Amino acid sequence: MRVLIIDDDMVDRKDIVRVLQTQAGTSIVETATAQEGMAALTNIKFDIVLLDYLLPDKNGLEVLAGIKTLNLSHPCGIILMSGNDDSELLEKALEAGAQDFLGKNEINQQRLQRTIHLARKRFELEYHVRKSQERSKIAARMDNLTRLFNRTAFETALEKMLSSNTEYEEGAVIFLDVDNFKFFNECYGHEVGDELLKQVAARIKQVVDKNDQVARVGSNEFAVLFKAQDIETKKRRLLNRLLKALDFPFAFDDVEINCTFSIGCTFLGNEKSKKDIIKQANLALHKAKGESGYSVTEFDASLSAEIEKQRKMKEGLEFHLNRGEFNVVYQPIIAESGETVSLEALVRWPENSPFGHFRPDEFIPISEQNQTIDKLGEFVFKQAVETLASLKSRGYNDIRVSVNFSPIQLNQWELSVRLVDLCRKAGVSPSDLVLEITETALLSNDFATKRMISELATAGFTISLDDFGTGYSSISHLINFPINQVKMDRSVVPVSQDDSKRKNLLSSLVSMCKSIGAVVVIEGIEEQWQADFCRALRAEKQQGYFYSKPISFAELTEKYLQSEEETAAPRCASM
Ligand code: C2E
Ligand code: MG
Ligand code: MG
Repeated sequence: MRVLIIDDDMVDRKDIVRVLQTQAGTSIVETATAQEGMAALTNIKFDIVLLDYLLPDKNGLEVLAGIKTLNLSHPCGIILMSGNDDSELLEKALEAGAQDFLGKNEINQQRLQRTIHLARKRFELEYHVRKSQERSKIAARMDNLTRLFNRTAFETALEKMLSSNTEYEEGAVIFLDVDNFKFFNECYGHEVGDELLKQVAARIKQVVDKNDQVARVGSNEFAVLFKAQDIETKKRRLLNRLLKALDFPFAFDDVEINCTFSIGCTFLGNEKSKKDIIKQANLALHKAKGESGYSVTEFDASLSAEIEKQRKMKEGLEFHLNRGEFNVVYQPIIAESGETVSLEALVRWPENSPFGHFRPDEFIPISEQNQTIDKLGEFVFKQAVETLASLKSRGYNDIRVSVNFSPIQLNQWELSVRLVDLCRKAGVSPSDLVLEITETALLSNDFATKRMISELATAGFTISLDDFGTGYSSISHLINFPINQVKMDRSVVPVSQDDSKRKNLLSSLVSMCKSIGAVVVIEGIEEQWQADFCRALRAEKQQGYFYSKPISFAELTEKYLQSEEETAAPRCASM
């Protein structure tokens, strides 16, 4: 046993040494001041300290407090000794970290050995309790999977940084989210999902600076909290490093995953609270998630309004879909003869909606995101076939209806069976319907989508490729898929008589499509000269405000009924 005596009274020290030396294997270091004692404690590992209360440079309680601050790598039990047996002092000594108290007049062999024995036992016990408390404190701040800080620890660190904000340094937060994580998790299994998160965590850890704090703050969401004098430069550098580190495949035993990430950032700023910052970083992340591929968004005030708008659209979609309140309008598609040969069904947000009013190009992407698109698509399709049936019942047998399909809808199980069934119930034939799909649906090139498009074509639906000219405009898509019709997007229609670029482009696109036998429709015709130009290209059909804006079913029937009254035999109206 190694004992340290800190006592300025040499006689008392000798008494203690004499008693202790009777025990074999005891080594003793004697010191006479607090300073010497503390120095010995720092350098040598002891099992017990016998500390006198009255020392020349400090009292025993002050020494106990000083020992605590030393943060010793080998702490040990301490017995405070005093000339007078004072119960108040005993209390204070225990509070200050001593394990026991001994009156100097009580010192005899038996008493001293017993006190040392008990103090050591007590110390051991306290030490283990403290260690396990520390361990559970750390565990409460750690994320088990990635060994990064967890959300609680991140929030604590953020709070600390906010309260210690100096005028020399500024802070910032980056939120980073693995795109389509749910898909990877479901597709490759949870083990691969977990491993992916671990690898992402490790790559983030590798590129941040020593004092930056990295945490996993959601299932597939990470946060980096950092500060710097020139925060803008630091943020840019960090983002560059992050994007570089994450932009190569994640390898597992038998799969490799290529993922993209969405990133949102915001600065700490003086007047912002912890809640504000988390909200702003989340808003920026949310906005980034709406973009495709890698995307970084910085928070600015307009984001709040945009996210609020998205929230309203999401709520409104569920609300109005459950009540079947969406409207469908129809825009005529005109043949070379000038006759309306088809109507494109276009969905409209309900009028007087308590959620506000939104355009289809605003709420369709949201509907795709929150998975209401299947229900919305089916609603539009049902309305379209009913409208078609109603027109046919009035004798308009040659007219067809086009319905837009989002790529996501094509993943639906037995979609073609359901559509055929809806046609049968309404008393129309699939050959009376045109399904408009965009090129993005063909890009994934997955087997299920390919099969679904073939199934739909086999069932008799006409497949029309929408918005041609905006994306890949790939001839191979036209060859490899059963596409009967191509719709040129209005962005490739010439905007003025001398817009030779678009004139040449449109002319080449039309001849390319015609060369493989596809029927060509040109959208966005607003003026007579555009109509004439497109007719000269020998495009089979045209559509646009020049002929008619999209109109409601009521307006449509009114128009047809009028022409019915004017002509004896009902034919498709010329508009
Ligand atoms: P789209 O399928 O290419 O539809 C044509 C869009 O162009 C329609 O916009 C139409 O109103 C507009 N348009 C037609 N002629 C002209 C013109 O001469 N000038 C101009 N400036 N615009 C014209 P809308 O109805 O706002 O729809 C936008 C897009 O939303 C559609 O583009 C389509 O991609 C999507 N969408 C609309 N309804 C549905 C639906 O029921 N399901 C799905 N999946 N998507 C839909
Ligand atoms: Mg369309
Ligand atoms: Mg289009």
